[in-house]
Amino acid sequence: NQGIGSWTARRAGKTPDRLAVVHVDREGAGREWTYRQLHERVLRLAHGLRGLGVGPGDRVAYLGPNHPAILETLFAAGMIGAVFVPLNMRLAGPELAYNLSDSGTDVLVYAPEQAGVVDAIRVDVPVREFVALDADYERLIASSPDDAIDTPVGLDDDCMIMYTSGTTGRPKGAVLTHGNITWNSVNVLVDIDLASDEVTLVVAPLFHTAGLNMTCLPTLLKGGTVVIVPAFDPAVVLDLVETRRVTYMFGVPAMYNAIAACPAFADTDLSSLRQVNCGGAPVPEATIQTYLQRGLAFSQGYGMTEASPGALYLARDMSTAKAGTAGKPHFFTDVRVVRPGRTEAGQVGPDLTEVRPGEKGEIVVSGPNVMRGYWGRPEATAEVLDADGWFHSGDVGSPDADGYIAIVDRIKDMIISGGENIYPAEVEGSLYDHPAVAECAVIGVADDRWGEVGRAVVVLKAGTTVSEEELLDFLRGRLARYKIPKSVVFVDALPRNAAGKLLKGTVRGSYGN
Ligand code: AMP
Ligand code: MG
Repeated sequence: NQGIGSWTARRAGKTPDRLAVVHVDREGAGREWTYRQLHERVLRLAHGLRGLGVGPGDRVAYLGPNHPAILETLFAAGMIGAVFVPLNMRLAGPELAYNLSDSGTDVLVYAPEQAGVVDAIRVDVPVREFVALDADYERLIASSPDDAIDTPVGLDDDCMIMYTSGTTGRPKGAVLTHGNITWNSVNVLVDIDLASDEVTLVVAPLFHTAGLNMTCLPTLLKGGTVVIVPAFDPAVVLDLVETRRVTYMFGVPAMYNAIAACPAFADTDLSSLRQVNCGGAPVPEATIQTYLQRGLAFSQGYGMTEASPGALYLARDMSTAKAGTAGKPHFFTDVRVVRPGRTEAGQVGPDLTEVRPGEKGEIVVSGPNVMRGYWGRPEATAEVLDADGWFHSGDVGSPDADGYIAIVDRIKDMIISGGENIYPAEVEGSLYDHPAVAECAVIGVADDRWGEVGRAVVVLKAGTTVSEEELLDFLRGRLARYKIPKSVVFVDALPRNAAGKLLKGTVRGSYGN
């Protein structure tokens, strides 16, 4: 087994007594696992999953808040050649059912917090076995053997399917191979410079790529310690940094702003932190300055689920000199800023002419960390991956003369609210299900706390009336809460061009802020 399902065995062989995982629960109680203990649990879980009929290529999903069980399930699935599917715990029932059906998930491990939503969709999904934390799950581990497993798994085999929505249609599962995940981890170790004595605090959701692949997995590959808490709480973060002597953490900008706004920020002992790493959304320069003034080293990154996710990285020693940029490509990854972006038909390539310094173009990424495609969606894959393997990001970048790339705009229609991506097309689709909605457009408006929040601009059918509250209520239960617009503006008509195409830019100009 060359895949990440072999990592716990390799680590348990080399550094059995080092601390691998610390789990601090909601009451603040901590549980700890050494690499030997982690490996033994993973091995038993792998046997347990096999006993439930899971074989190579089958899908095993996890639904819940951050918990060591996510990592154990990922490693156990990898050990027997199964594919791990992390699911966003904020999804509404219909969204969750879609992801489980689309991925053809066989076994679902879920947390007690998610029991309600799981019960609501149980009969609509292909899942054969439901494993509830902690009772079913611990029983499965306790009742399974721990003899070695030697399923052949290669770097080109599928490791995980991570769902990401899109500018058109339904959510898509980015298929990341064991090689993708491994090479991203190598990039992180080379560039972000994690050490074997790293103590990494994990506060970003582990069902998203940054929390899992930028934070947890590279630390475990190197033999460091990950500290996992169930939810992000700025006061808890500060307390843990001091008491656990945290050396590294990753968060989205909204998290760093919340931490800096905490009264304890000024006088907590943060001296153990070698750097704080930020990304996933545009990083305001004021945020960087706040941390630099606090005496902390601040690094930042740009990437996407499809690149496992690291593409660009601005090292801590360049955070002032190259402020406003997201840095340079990761060591084994190539990034170009090219013209002319996408054709009207949505086709990518073939022009990969790089723009000159100071000009703008679309950011494209290639390398061993770029996904092999979307699960079961060759057409959607062809819209973003060209024949030469370049992933077309839909982001607009601008390189400077030294090759540092600033992220300046988006071509794709997307809103990032507190680190969660919202795809207006998906929200608009749900709005159109309301009988009174004739036309609608969802746009992002700037927000101090969340970076951006959604706003719906709606034209009602003649003779109908519906209030803002009724419309938003209609969306609840259909969409995850973070996707629900924060406001609705009712208008008489939406701007369209001669061909009838909605002019989103004009809508933003008129009804944004
Ligand atoms: P995700 O697949 O959730 O990781 O979202 C990827 C998208 O988030 C990218 O295509 C960008 O639009 C955005 N993004 C990620 N990192 C940054 C960053 N440092 N600055 C600006 N946008 C970012
Ligand atoms: Mg994101």
